[in-house]
Amino acid sequence: MTAWQNVYIGLGSNLSNPEEQVLKALESLKTLPESQWVTHSKLYFSRPQGPQDQPDFVNAVALLKTRLSPIALLDKLQALEQSQGKVKKRHWGERLIDLDILLYGNETLNTQRLVIPHPFMTERDFVLLPLAEISPDLTLPNHSKIKDLISELPEGFIMSDQTAEKSREK
Ligand code: ADP
Ligand code: MG
Repeated sequence: MTAWQNVYIGLGSNLSNPEEQVLKALESLKTLPESQWVTHSKLYFSRPQGPQDQPDFVNAVALLKTRLSPIALLDKLQALEQSQGKVKKRHWGERLIDLDILLYGNETLNTQRLVIPHPFMTERDFVLLPLAEISPDLTLPNHSKIKDLISELPEGFIMSDQTAEKSREK
């Protein structure tokens, strides 16, 4: 049996009421087998990376503990994406829901189907900021510290977070 691992999952959506899609996926993640829910970040609102002729994104990061192997977890996440109605359109394009494995304990994996840590996570403020919100002292398998990675980001996509949205509504 695999040992319990801390797993960070990145969520993103920019179609069909993205906020609702992300909240729905967070609820689904709470029901994953062989897993224990820990917490999730606020929602972050970001402009698209890649093609610019698509709606803005809602992003979040979830933390859970799991005994599923990395590939078994990917199978479950892809089944959740499918059941929520994901259809692949274009690279870095619009999506109803995207569930990416960002980190799986301190493991690194490089197979055709699964690369961990997620290859683009260190370039994305909409991944690093919610990660740091949950785990401010996180260190990646290559020993990089989350705070250093944030200070080295070349470009920002986040426009606001849930707290800012709420205070604007007042
Ligand atoms: P995107 O790359 O834009 O997230 P998809 O969500 O359709 O697009 O994912 C494409 C493929 O990425 C998946 O079929 C999966 O096999 C692969 N993949 C590689 N590493 C990961 C990871 N860490 N988390 C999720 N999917 C991954
Ligand atoms: Mg994906």
